[in-house]
Amino acid sequence: MGMVSLRLFHFRSHADGMSRYVDDLRVPTCVFEAAAWQETVKITCPHGHSVVHDAHGLWWWCYRRRVSDNFLDLCRTLACSQCKDAGKGVVRPASVARSREKPTAELPLPPEREWKRALRRIRS
Ligand SMILES: [Zn+2]
Repeated sequence: MGMVSLRLFHFRSHADGMSRYVDDLRVPTCVFEAAAWQETVKITCPHGHSVVHDAHGLWWWCYRRRVSDNFLDLCRTLACSQCKDAGKGVVRPASVARSREKPTAELPLPPEREWKRALRRIRS
């Protein structure tokens, strides 16, 4: 994975989130890139809860819901389920970032055909 345009993947683009791709394409700033680089994605809430997802599974989750997989966007759209269960209401993540840790939760993985198609679309 080298210099690729990820614009196609942003169903909802946010000007501030997009600029990071323009400035530095080498820093993974979204789930798709983390998946392409074989990394995981760690989501941490301000109250210390965290979850590590396989990036492919998280990308597929975003893709099917038509939500942006940009880390900054996910900070605004995800909510901590443990905080919700504890009655704290909607608590947004403190950070969504690339990780090397092993996944601690499972999401369905994309069918290989869909993943390959996504890679082709990015590279073309
Ligand atoms: Zn929490």
